[in-house]
Amino acid sequence: MSNTTVRFVDVQHMIRWTAEQGVEQIIAGIVGYLEDDFRRWPCFDKTPRVGSHSDVGVIELMPTSDGVEYSFKYVNGHPSNPQSGFQTVTAFGVLSNVATGYPTFWTEMTLLTALRTAATSAMAAKHLARSDARTLALIGTGTQSEFQALGMRSALGIDTLRIWDTDPQAMEKFVRNAAPLGFDIHVASSALDAVTGADVVTTCTADKTNATILTADMLDVMAPGVHINAIGGDCPGKTELDAAILTRGDVFVEFPEQTFIEGEIQQMPRDFPITELWEVISDRATGRTAADQITIFDSVGFAVEDFAALRYVRDAVEGTEFYETVDLIADPDDPKNLFGLVTDAALVAV
Ligand code: NAD
Repeated sequence: MSNTTVRFVDVQHMIRWTAEQGVEQIIAGIVGYLEDDFRRWPCFDKTPRVGSHSDVGVIELMPTSDGVEYSFKYVNGHPSNPQSGFQTVTAFGVLSNVATGYPTFWTEMTLLTALRTAATSAMAAKHLARSDARTLALIGTGTQSEFQALGMRSALGIDTLRIWDTDPQAMEKFVRNAAPLGFDIHVASSALDAVTGADVVTTCTADKTNATILTADMLDVMAPGVHINAIGGDCPGKTELDAAILTRGDVFVEFPEQTFIEGEIQQMPRDFPITELWEVISDRATGRTAADQITIFDSVGFAVEDFAALRYVRDAVEGTEFYETVDLIADPDDPKNLFGLVTDAALVAV
Protein backbone atom coordinates (compact mmCIF):
# COMPACT_ATOMS: atom_id res chain seq x y z
CA MET A 1 0.00 0.00 0.00
CA SER A 2 1.32 3.45 -0.89
CA ASN A 3 1.69 6.33 1.55
CA THR A 4 -1.54 8.31 1.37
CA THR A 5 -1.36 10.04 4.73
CA VAL A 6 -2.85 13.53 4.63
CA ARG A 7 -2.22 15.75 7.64
CA PHE A 8 -5.13 18.00 8.52
CA VAL A 9 -5.13 21.16 10.64
CA ASP A 10 -8.71 22.00 11.51
CA VAL A 11 -9.99 25.29 12.93
CA GLN A 12 -9.56 24.29 16.58
CA HIS A 13 -5.99 23.09 15.94
CA MET A 14 -5.18 26.35 14.14
CA ILE A 15 -6.68 28.46 16.94
CA ARG A 16 -4.83 26.57 19.71
CA TRP A 17 -1.54 26.49 17.78
CA THR A 18 -1.76 30.23 17.05
CA ALA A 19 -2.62 31.03 20.67
CA GLU A 20 0.30 28.92 21.92
CA GLN A 21 2.87 30.30 19.45
CA GLY A 22 1.67 33.92 19.41
CA VAL A 23 0.38 35.81 16.36
CA GLU A 24 3.44 38.06 16.05
CA GLN A 25 5.85 35.11 16.24
CA ILE A 26 3.93 33.21 13.56
CA ILE A 27 3.83 36.26 11.28
CA ALA A 28 7.61 36.64 11.69
CA GLY A 29 8.05 32.93 10.90
CA ILE A 30 5.91 33.17 7.76
CA VAL A 31 7.94 36.22 6.64
CA GLY A 32 11.04 33.99 6.62
CA TYR A 33 9.33 31.41 4.39
CA LEU A 34 7.89 34.18 2.16
CA GLU A 35 11.32 35.71 1.64
CA ASP A 36 12.72 32.29 0.72
CA ASP A 37 9.96 31.77 -1.84
CA PHE A 38 10.06 35.33 -3.24
CA ARG A 39 13.83 34.93 -3.78
CA ARG A 40 13.18 31.87 -5.97
CA TRP A 41 10.15 33.45 -7.68
CA PRO A 42 11.10 32.41 -11.27
CA CYS A 43 10.85 28.71 -10.37
CA PHE A 44 7.14 28.99 -9.52
CA ASP A 45 4.36 28.07 -11.89
CA LYS A 46 2.28 31.28 -11.80
CA THR A 47 -1.15 32.22 -13.05
CA PRO A 48 -3.70 34.88 -12.04
CA ARG A 49 -6.21 33.30 -9.69
CA VAL A 50 -9.39 31.91 -11.12
CA GLY A 51 -12.42 33.82 -9.87
CA SER A 52 -16.12 33.08 -10.12
CA HIS A 53 -17.84 36.44 -9.68
CA SER A 54 -21.39 37.20 -8.58
CA ASP A 55 -23.15 40.44 -7.77
CA VAL A 56 -22.22 40.09 -4.09
CA GLY A 57 -18.73 38.61 -4.15
CA VAL A 58 -16.24 36.17 -5.59
CA ILE A 59 -15.08 32.59 -5.03
CA GLU A 60 -11.49 32.04 -6.11
CA LEU A 61 -8.97 29.23 -6.59
CA MET A 62 -5.30 30.17 -6.17
CA PRO A 63 -2.86 27.53 -7.49
CA THR A 64 0.93 27.44 -7.75
CA SER A 65 3.82 24.96 -7.74
CA ASP A 66 7.60 25.03 -7.33
CA GLY A 67 7.89 21.75 -9.25
CA VAL A 68 8.25 19.70 -6.06
CA GLU A 69 5.11 20.71 -4.24
CA TYR A 70 1.82 22.10 -5.51
CA SER A 71 -0.68 24.18 -3.53
CA PHE A 72 -4.06 25.75 -3.95
CA LYS A 73 -6.28 27.88 -1.78
CA TYR A 74 -10.05 28.13 -2.00
CA VAL A 75 -11.07 31.61 -0.84
CA ASN A 76 -14.16 33.79 -1.01
CA GLY A 77 -14.59 37.56 -0.80
CA HIS A 78 -18.11 38.79 0.08
CA PRO A 79 -18.00 42.35 1.48
CA SER A 80 -21.67 42.39 2.55
CA ASN A 81 -21.44 39.05 4.40
CA PRO A 82 -20.88 40.63 7.88
CA GLN A 83 -24.36 42.23 7.66
CA SER A 84 -25.82 38.73 7.79
CA GLY A 85 -23.36 37.30 10.32
CA PHE A 86 -20.90 35.74 7.86
CA GLN A 87 -17.26 36.76 7.36
CA THR A 88 -16.08 38.63 4.27
CA VAL A 89 -13.23 36.16 3.66
CA THR A 90 -12.98 32.42 4.46
CA ALA A 91 -10.54 29.88 3.06
CA PHE A 92 -8.94 26.45 3.17
CA GLY A 93 -5.86 25.15 1.38
CA VAL A 94 -3.96 22.05 0.29
CA LEU A 95 -0.33 21.09 -0.36
CA SER A 96 0.41 18.17 -2.70
CA ASN A 97 3.39 16.12 -3.80
CA VAL A 98 4.11 16.86 -7.47
CA ALA A 99 5.82 13.47 -7.98
CA THR A 100 2.66 11.49 -7.22
CA GLY A 101 -0.01 14.19 -7.38
CA TYR A 102 -1.23 13.07 -3.96
CA PRO A 103 -2.24 15.70 -1.38
CA THR A 104 -0.08 15.67 1.75
CA PHE A 105 -1.39 18.56 3.86
CA TRP A 106 -4.78 20.22 4.25
CA THR A 107 -5.62 23.11 6.53
CA GLU A 108 -8.17 25.74 7.42
CA MET A 109 -6.96 29.03 5.94
CA THR A 110 -9.36 31.68 7.23
CA LEU A 111 -7.04 32.42 10.15
CA LEU A 112 -4.02 31.47 8.10
CA THR A 113 -4.96 33.97 5.36
CA ALA A 114 -5.05 36.78 7.94
CA LEU A 115 -1.64 35.64 9.22
CA ARG A 116 -0.13 35.32 5.71
CA THR A 117 -1.59 38.64 4.55
CA ALA A 118 -0.11 40.36 7.59
CA ALA A 119 3.19 38.58 6.90
CA THR A 120 3.17 39.73 3.26
CA SER A 121 2.42 43.31 4.35
CA ALA A 122 5.21 43.04 6.92
CA MET A 123 7.69 41.71 4.37
CA ALA A 124 6.84 44.50 1.90
CA ALA A 125 7.08 47.16 4.63
CA LYS A 126 10.40 45.77 5.87
CA HIS A 127 11.83 46.31 2.38
CA LEU A 128 9.96 49.50 1.41
CA ALA A 129 8.99 51.59 4.45
CA ARG A 130 11.28 54.02 6.26
CA SER A 131 13.05 52.06 8.98
CA ASP A 132 12.20 54.78 11.53
CA ALA A 133 8.45 54.40 10.89
CA ARG A 134 6.55 54.16 14.20
CA THR A 135 2.98 55.31 13.41
CA LEU A 136 0.54 53.21 11.41
CA ALA A 137 -2.81 54.49 10.16
CA LEU A 138 -5.27 51.61 9.72
CA ILE A 139 -8.30 52.34 7.58
CA GLY A 140 -10.75 49.47 8.02
CA THR A 141 -10.73 47.71 11.38
CA GLY A 142 -12.41 44.46 10.38
CA THR A 143 -11.03 40.92 10.31
CA GLN A 144 -7.55 41.63 8.95
CA SER A 145 -6.80 44.70 11.06
CA GLU A 146 -5.27 43.37 14.31
CA PHE A 147 -3.11 40.95 12.32
CA GLN A 148 -1.96 43.84 10.12
CA ALA A 149 -1.03 45.92 13.17
CA LEU A 150 1.01 43.07 14.65
CA GLY A 151 2.69 42.42 11.29
CA MET A 152 3.81 46.04 11.09
CA ARG A 153 5.07 45.94 14.68
CA SER A 154 7.09 42.83 13.93
CA ALA A 155 8.56 44.34 10.72
CA LEU A 156 9.14 47.95 11.79
CA GLY A 157 8.56 48.35 15.52
CA ILE A 158 5.27 50.24 14.99
CA ASP A 159 3.94 51.29 18.41
CA THR A 160 1.28 53.92 17.57
CA LEU A 161 -1.95 53.25 15.71
CA ARG A 162 -4.41 55.74 14.21
CA ILE A 163 -7.57 53.89 13.23
CA TRP A 164 -10.66 54.71 11.18
CA ASP A 165 -13.65 52.64 10.09
CA THR A 166 -17.10 53.73 8.97
CA ASP A 167 -18.48 51.20 11.47
CA PRO A 168 -17.95 52.49 15.05
CA GLN A 169 -18.47 48.98 16.45
CA ALA A 170 -15.57 47.68 14.36
CA MET A 171 -13.35 50.37 15.88
CA GLU A 172 -14.55 49.49 19.42
CA LYS A 173 -13.76 45.83 18.72
CA PHE A 174 -10.31 46.81 17.46
CA VAL A 175 -9.49 48.85 20.57
CA ARG A 176 -10.72 45.99 22.78
CA ASN A 177 -8.40 43.55 20.99
CA ALA A 178 -5.36 45.76 20.33
CA ALA A 179 -5.06 47.92 23.46
CA PRO A 180 -3.97 44.94 25.63
CA LEU A 181 -1.23 44.26 23.06
CA GLY A 182 0.53 47.46 24.13
CA PHE A 183 -0.27 49.77 21.21
CA ASP A 184 -0.93 53.48 21.72
CA ILE A 185 -4.24 53.86 19.83
CA HIS A 186 -5.87 57.05 18.50
CA VAL A 187 -9.47 56.53 17.36
CA ALA A 188 -9.79 58.98 14.48
CA SER A 189 -12.86 60.94 13.39
CA SER A 190 -12.22 60.45 9.65
CA ALA A 191 -9.80 58.85 7.23
CA LEU A 192 -8.07 62.23 6.92
CA ASP A 193 -7.62 62.43 10.69
CA ALA A 194 -6.30 58.84 10.77
CA VAL A 195 -3.61 59.36 8.14
CA THR A 196 -2.37 62.66 9.58
CA GLY A 197 1.29 62.24 10.50
CA ALA A 198 1.27 58.50 9.66
CA ASP A 199 4.52 56.85 8.53
CA VAL A 200 2.66 53.82 7.16
CA VAL A 201 -0.96 53.70 5.97
CA THR A 202 -2.74 50.36 5.59
CA THR A 203 -6.09 50.33 3.81
CA CYS A 204 -8.03 47.13 4.56
CA THR A 205 -11.62 48.03 3.78
CA ALA A 206 -14.14 45.82 2.04
CA ASP A 207 -16.58 47.24 -0.46
CA LYS A 208 -17.30 45.97 -3.97
CA THR A 209 -16.79 49.35 -5.57
CA ASN A 210 -14.14 51.73 -6.90
CA ALA A 211 -13.74 53.59 -3.61
CA THR A 212 -11.46 56.49 -2.79
CA ILE A 213 -10.55 55.57 0.76
CA LEU A 214 -7.40 57.67 0.24
CA THR A 215 -7.50 60.76 -1.97
CA ALA A 216 -4.36 62.37 -3.36
CA ASP A 217 -4.68 65.48 -1.16
CA MET A 218 -4.32 63.24 1.93
CA LEU A 219 -0.68 62.63 0.95
CA ASP A 220 0.00 66.20 2.11
CA VAL A 221 -0.88 65.38 5.75
CA MET A 222 0.93 62.03 5.91
CA ALA A 223 4.54 61.94 7.11
CA PRO A 224 7.10 62.55 4.32
CA GLY A 225 8.15 59.27 2.71
CA VAL A 226 4.98 57.46 3.73
CA HIS A 227 4.57 53.78 2.83
CA ILE A 228 1.05 52.88 1.67
CA ASN A 229 0.02 49.26 2.12
CA ALA A 230 -3.21 48.89 0.13
CA ILE A 231 -4.63 45.42 0.71
CA GLY A 232 -8.41 45.83 0.36
CA GLY A 233 -8.66 46.48 -3.39
CA ASP A 234 -8.33 42.96 -4.73
CA CYS A 235 -11.03 42.35 -7.33
CA PRO A 236 -12.10 43.82 -10.67
CA GLY A 237 -14.16 46.93 -9.83
CA LYS A 238 -12.96 46.91 -6.17
CA THR A 239 -10.26 49.50 -5.43
CA GLU A 240 -9.35 51.82 -2.53
CA LEU A 241 -6.95 54.46 -3.83
CA ASP A 242 -7.56 57.56 -5.89
CA ALA A 243 -5.69 56.81 -9.14
CA ALA A 244 -3.79 60.11 -8.73
CA ILE A 245 -2.00 58.62 -5.69
CA LEU A 246 -0.44 55.96 -7.90
CA THR A 247 1.36 58.62 -9.94
CA ARG A 248 2.76 60.34 -6.83
CA GLY A 249 4.82 57.36 -5.62
CA ASP A 250 6.52 54.15 -6.70
CA VAL A 251 4.19 51.17 -7.01
CA PHE A 252 5.22 47.63 -6.04
CA VAL A 253 3.14 44.56 -6.88
CA GLU A 254 3.12 40.79 -6.42
CA PHE A 255 2.30 39.29 -9.86
CA PRO A 256 1.59 41.98 -12.49
CA GLU A 257 -0.66 39.74 -14.61
CA GLN A 258 -2.99 39.37 -11.61
CA THR A 259 -2.57 42.87 -10.17
CA PHE A 260 -3.49 44.62 -13.42
CA ILE A 261 -6.80 42.70 -13.23
CA GLU A 262 -7.50 43.03 -9.51
CA GLY A 263 -5.32 45.67 -7.86
CA GLU A 264 -5.25 49.45 -7.66
CA ILE A 265 -3.40 49.50 -10.99
CA GLN A 266 -6.50 48.15 -12.78
CA GLN A 267 -7.20 51.91 -12.99
CA MET A 268 -3.98 52.48 -14.97
CA PRO A 269 -2.84 51.58 -18.52
CA ARG A 270 -0.99 48.27 -18.94
CA ASP A 271 2.34 50.11 -19.47
CA PHE A 272 2.06 51.92 -16.12
CA PRO A 273 5.46 51.58 -14.39
CA ILE A 274 5.50 49.08 -11.53
CA THR A 275 8.17 47.04 -9.76
CA GLU A 276 7.68 43.41 -8.79
CA LEU A 277 8.22 42.87 -5.08
CA TRP A 278 10.20 39.66 -5.59
CA GLU A 279 12.80 41.66 -7.50
CA VAL A 280 13.30 44.00 -4.54
CA ILE A 281 13.53 41.09 -2.11
CA SER A 282 16.10 39.33 -4.26
CA ASP A 283 18.11 42.55 -4.78
CA ARG A 284 17.40 42.74 -8.53
CA ALA A 285 15.50 46.03 -8.22
CA THR A 286 15.67 48.95 -5.86
CA GLY A 287 12.89 49.63 -3.36
CA ARG A 288 13.16 52.81 -1.31
CA THR A 289 15.95 55.09 -2.46
CA ALA A 290 15.13 58.27 -0.50
CA ALA A 291 13.61 59.15 2.87
CA ASP A 292 10.92 61.30 1.25
CA GLN A 293 9.98 58.76 -1.45
CA ILE A 294 6.36 57.58 -1.35
CA THR A 295 6.16 53.80 -1.70
CA ILE A 296 2.90 51.98 -2.48
CA PHE A 297 2.40 48.24 -2.09
CA ASP A 298 -0.60 47.38 -4.27
CA SER A 299 -1.37 44.04 -2.59
CA VAL A 300 -3.99 41.63 -3.91
CA GLY A 301 -2.71 38.39 -2.37
CA PHE A 302 -0.91 35.87 -4.57
CA ALA A 303 -0.75 32.06 -4.56
CA VAL A 304 2.98 31.91 -3.73
CA GLU A 305 2.16 33.60 -0.39
CA ASP A 306 -0.30 30.80 0.42
CA PHE A 307 2.29 28.23 -0.68
CA ALA A 308 4.79 29.74 1.80
CA ALA A 309 2.20 29.90 4.59
CA LEU A 310 1.11 26.31 3.99
CA ARG A 311 4.72 25.11 4.08
CA TYR A 312 5.33 27.09 7.26
CA VAL A 313 2.38 25.61 9.14
CA ARG A 314 3.05 22.10 7.83
CA ASP A 315 6.65 22.28 9.10
CA ALA A 316 5.80 24.06 12.36
CA VAL A 317 3.13 21.58 13.52
CA GLU A 318 5.34 18.56 12.73
CA GLY A 319 5.62 16.43 15.87
CA THR A 320 2.96 18.44 17.75
CA GLU A 321 -0.62 17.70 18.77
CA PHE A 322 -1.95 20.38 16.42
CA TYR A 323 -2.89 18.16 13.48
CA GLU A 324 -4.54 14.83 12.77
CA THR A 325 -4.33 12.49 9.81
CA VAL A 326 -7.35 12.08 7.59
CA ASP A 327 -8.41 9.32 5.24
CA LEU A 328 -8.82 11.50 2.14
CA ILE A 329 -7.42 9.38 -0.69
CA ALA A 330 -8.93 6.01 -1.63
CA ASP A 331 -6.02 3.57 -1.61
CA PRO A 332 -6.60 0.08 -3.06
CA ASP A 333 -3.80 -2.52 -2.68
CA ASP A 334 -3.91 -2.96 -6.46
CA PRO A 335 -3.81 0.59 -7.89
CA LYS A 336 -5.91 -0.58 -10.85
CA ASN A 337 -8.59 -2.17 -8.70
CA LEU A 338 -10.50 0.77 -7.23
CA PHE A 339 -13.71 -1.17 -7.87
CA GLY A 340 -12.41 -3.91 -5.57
CA LEU A 341 -12.71 -1.57 -2.58
CA VAL A 342 -16.45 -1.43 -3.20
CA THR A 343 -16.90 -5.17 -3.74
CA ASP A 344 -14.81 -5.92 -0.63
CA ALA A 345 -16.99 -3.52 1.36
CA ALA A 346 -20.11 -5.19 -0.04
CA LEU A 347 -18.82 -8.57 1.19
CA VAL A 348 -18.19 -7.09 4.65
CA ALA A 349 -21.68 -5.55 4.63
CA VAL A 350 -23.25 -8.94 3.90
P1 NAD B 1 -14.00 42.93 6.90
O1 NAD B 1 -15.31 42.99 6.19
O2 NAD B 1 -13.89 42.07 8.10
O3 NAD B 1 -13.53 44.41 7.32
C1 NAD B 1 -13.58 45.49 6.42
C2 NAD B 1 -13.85 46.76 7.21
O4 NAD B 1 -13.82 47.87 6.28
C3 NAD B 1 -15.25 46.79 7.86
O5 NAD B 1 -15.13 46.97 9.27
C4 NAD B 1 -15.94 47.97 7.17
O6 NAD B 1 -16.83 48.68 8.06
C5 NAD B 1 -14.76 48.83 6.75
N1 NAD B 1 -15.05 49.76 5.67
C6 NAD B 1 -15.76 49.56 4.53
N2 NAD B 1 -15.80 50.70 3.80
C7 NAD B 1 -15.08 51.62 4.48
C8 NAD B 1 -14.72 52.97 4.23
N3 NAD B 1 -15.13 53.61 3.12
N4 NAD B 1 -13.95 53.63 5.13
C9 NAD B 1 -13.53 53.01 6.27
N5 NAD B 1 -13.84 51.71 6.57
C10 NAD B 1 -14.60 51.03 5.68
O7 NAD B 1 -12.94 42.48 5.78
P2 NAD B 1 -11.46 41.92 6.03
O8 NAD B 1 -11.47 40.42 6.07
O9 NAD B 1 -10.79 42.67 7.12
O10 NAD B 1 -10.81 42.28 4.63
C11 NAD B 1 -10.58 43.63 4.26
C12 NAD B 1 -10.28 43.68 2.78
O11 NAD B 1 -9.01 43.08 2.54
C13 NAD B 1 -11.28 42.94 1.92
O12 NAD B 1 -11.60 43.73 0.80
C14 NAD B 1 -10.57 41.69 1.51
O13 NAD B 1 -11.01 41.20 0.27
C15 NAD B 1 -9.15 42.17 1.45
N6 NAD B 1 -8.12 41.15 1.64
C16 NAD B 1 -6.98 41.28 0.91
C17 NAD B 1 -5.96 40.36 1.07
C18 NAD B 1 -4.68 40.52 0.30
O14 NAD B 1 -3.87 39.61 0.28
N7 NAD B 1 -4.44 41.66 -0.31
C19 NAD B 1 -6.10 39.29 1.97
C20 NAD B 1 -7.26 39.22 2.73
C21 NAD B 1 -8.27 40.15 2.56
